[in-house]
Amino acid sequence: MTNSNILVINCGSSSLKFQLINAESEEVIAKGLCERIGIEGSKISYTPAGGEKYETVTPMEDHTQAIRLVLGAITDEKTGVVKSLNEIGAVGHRVVHGGEKFASSVLINDEVLKAIEECNDLAPLHNPANLIGIRACMELMPDTPMAAVFDTAFHQTMPQEAYLYGLPYHYYEDYKVRRYGFHGTSHSFVSRRAAQILGRNYEDLKIIVCHLGNGASISAVKNGKCVDTSMGLTPLEGLIMGTRCGDLDPAIVEFLCNKEKKTVQEILSVMNKESGVLGLSGGFSSDFRDLVSAYERGDEAAGRALKAFSYRVAKYIGAYTAAMNGVDAICFTAGIGENTSLVRTMTASYLGYLGIELDEEANKKRGEEVFISTPESKTKVLIVPTNEELAIARETVALAG
Ligand code: ADP
Repeated sequence: MTNSNILVINCGSSSLKFQLINAESEEVIAKGLCERIGIEGSKISYTPAGGEKYETVTPMEDHTQAIRLVLGAITDEKTGVVKSLNEIGAVGHRVVHGGEKFASSVLINDEVLKAIEECNDLAPLHNPANLIGIRACMELMPDTPMAAVFDTAFHQTMPQEAYLYGLPYHYYEDYKVRRYGFHGTSHSFVSRRAAQILGRNYEDLKIIVCHLGNGASISAVKNGKCVDTSMGLTPLEGLIMGTRCGDLDPAIVEFLCNKEKKTVQEILSVMNKESGVLGLSGGFSSDFRDLVSAYERGDEAAGRALKAFSYRVAKYIGAYTAAMNGVDAICFTAGIGENTSLVRTMTASYLGYLGIELDEEANKKRGEEVFISTPESKTKVLIVPTNEELAIARETVALAG
């Protein structure tokens, strides 16, 4: 590609994160965030590589205006990092839900836009926002190739026994109700990187990736293919998360509706926004830095949240070891996985049966690629920092060539 910078866009309903990445050096040239799009007090923050962060409060009526500001910041005479938009070779868009239509990233055309739109009812909060971002970029950069990189794509290799729910089969046939999984870009990036660090063939390994951030999911990657993952039709299933409840008895929904005199929608909102470690800690915090320091001061509520969180991770590691008939390496990634050593210690305390021994000194490290198991440990445990933007940029380069 002659114009070898890739703009990576991650569009939410009222926010937009961006990074400009050089395709050859893979360096981040600039990055930033637009917040409160369409809401009073909208703000853009922009940081050129090696420079200071600029923050401007300015009205942003919609995503097109936000993207216009992003492009303006990148090409600004004083603070910009490129002379013109011609220096942007392609744009990579994160798209949350690709349903069963997309098992890999694609170059965007009208047909692709239509197919993404058809997945809207599977992710009604996310996909419409992603589409708005794509259309806004297409309007402002009509001749620049754009790629869609899906959160669900990596998990499309799951076998039927892993993705089917125990529901009447026609719900799958009629409505495509099944496990899809999310964070696929991260699970793919981290598992591939782990194989490189281990110096082994990706296709010969059984890897479990624990992506533990505000949203958390875990996946089983066997011989380079995802065979199971913990999030489901939506990101609510699986691990206990920052504010999401993860797995529970579905009958609880009706039970709580009756007890609390709330609608299904209201209870689901509690399950998405007020549950997880936030709910378990009695509303104290969803931030693991707060929880760990409270626990170290002897706070019981923080302790039960951290223990329940880590126990659930360990339980899934057991399930996925069974699913793959073994495991060579377990990777921790994302905000909590990379930084919160206490969660790694608590999780590993259940894994002695895998021959795992943690190297306590190495486990104190944060945010760097490091083995945290001892050299004797039969199954290797590693921290592998994720980089979803770089993964999106690589996919975009591969497609836009
Ligand atoms: P998401 O991208 O899903 O919003 P992140 O991957 O950024 O989430 O993870 C956020 C979580 O990571 C928070 O609970 C936060 O406490 C935790 N975290 C981030 N940085 C640190 C740190 N330096 N030490 C401990 N925990 C951290």
